[in-house]
Amino acid sequence: MTWRNWGGTEVCAPAATMRPTTVDEVAAIVRQAADDGTTVKAVGSGHSFSGAAVTSGVHVDLSALRGLTGVDADARTVSLAAGTRLHEIPDLLSPHDLAMANLGDIDRQTIAGATSTGTHGTGLAFGGISTQIVGATLVTGTGDVVRVSSGDVESDAIALGVGALGILTDITLRCVPAFGLRAVETSGSADDAIDGFLDRVAMHDHHEFYWFPHTDCALQKANTRLDADVAPHGPGRIRRYVDDELLSNKVFRVLCEVGARVPWAVPGIAQVSGRALSGRTFTDSSTRVFVSSRTVRFHEMEYAIPLESVPDAMREIRGMIDRRRHRVSFPVEVRAAAADGLMISTAAGRDTGYIAVHRYHRDDPTDSAAYFRDVEEILTAYDGRPHWGKMHTRDADHLRAVYPRFDEFLAIRNRFDPGRVFANPYLTRTLGA
Ligand SMILES: Cc1cc2nc3c(=O)[nH]c(=O)nc-3n(C[C@H](O)[C@H](O)[C@H](O)COP(=O)(O)OP(=O)(O)OC[C@H]3O[C@@H](n4cnc5c(N)ncnc54)[C@H](O)[C@@H]3O)c2cc1C
Repeated sequence: MTWRNWGGTEVCAPAATMRPTTVDEVAAIVRQAADDGTTVKAVGSGHSFSGAAVTSGVHVDLSALRGLTGVDADARTVSLAAGTRLHEIPDLLSPHDLAMANLGDIDRQTIAGATSTGTHGTGLAFGGISTQIVGATLVTGTGDVVRVSSGDVESDAIALGVGALGILTDITLRCVPAFGLRAVETSGSADDAIDGFLDRVAMHDHHEFYWFPHTDCALQKANTRLDADVAPHGPGRIRRYVDDELLSNKVFRVLCEVGARVPWAVPGIAQVSGRALSGRTFTDSSTRVFVSSRTVRFHEMEYAIPLESVPDAMREIRGMIDRRRHRVSFPVEVRAAAADGLMISTAAGRDTGYIAVHRYHRDDPTDSAAYFRDVEEILTAYDGRPHWGKMHTRDADHLRAVYPRFDEFLAIRNRFDPGRVFANPYLTRTLGA
């Protein structure tokens, strides 16, 4: 059966797809594959744009392993089966008055898939989701079941391992007391968004902005953390439907479709998109504010660069898009995260700015590739680290140069997967054979 990822950027034909229901079954699948000399690849929701989840061997779909497996109320930790979807987690945590400290844009991913590629949101005092991990169980390439806790040196690798170290079967997260967020969204000029970015990420709990290429329009978002019992407040259901579904998805899809067929119209369309999203303020539970619905399919590349380089890098990208006459319907998204101590986290050892570029999935592939290549050239010059789950062309030589602990990670890979049962072309390119 053919497998295809969400963005349609990767397709593969696994030799078999297995849906284990217990850890022992996962171990048996890995041992069998090792004996047969074939490869195994865990797959979550297929929301990575990179080839991280691709295999011609055995796909291990963990969708039967989901739900809460333990709670320690005093330590505020919860254990979740690896295939649990992020959107299932709020209901599992709410009886315990807990929440995840930070989230990305969407909640369709599995907890194991999201953490394995370093999924992050925004907020200079917060790391990506992997930094919330305090323990995990995984099946190694020899079929052994290993429990790792924070404090063990391996945990700095396993919390973000791109599926190279084993199949995670459950993950323990450190949570925070449930909280609300007040969201303030304002539209303004791109210059203001870029020039003021460093001040605003320092000032707000969670700040990000979207700049619409070919325009001077930027939408800025700032979320402030509040107590959990704050009452939801803000635009009613109809206005939120208009903003979140109609403008951000349904009308936007039509505009992107026109842009894909008539690329010279894109700058004019971008003016419409950039002005359509107006300011608003609302208050809701953390998950409802962090998470958006994304139904327009796109391709994405995202790079992590030192935080202080973001304004210069954004100015270069603006200039490059005009100079190279790229036609881009999708906004450029700019976020931030705290430095962390994970071996191959995109935020390892430095406060980080994230710049993400997107193209509509039906845009001309040659044009999209040229745009991504030009952005990648700019961002790699800033010591850029590509998101493990998004499109990029970097290999192990580049990654060794930007990750001080890269070889430490590879040493753990050699111990956990000596026979390369979890290898695939993406890992061979990015980590080496
Ligand atoms: C619309 C959209 C919005 C997104 N928004 C964000 C965002 O805001 N921030 C961000 O950082 N990223 C974002 N992403 C990227 C996404 O979060 C990551 O690519 C994530 O890895 C996808 O999770 P998944 O469950 O689909 O994993 P998959 O894509 O299926 O797999 C990803 C990797 O995890 C491995 N894996 C999966 N399960 C296991 C397991 N049990 N054990 C070991 N390895 C495993 C796979 O082998 C693969 O290497 C977005 C993607 C999309 C499509």
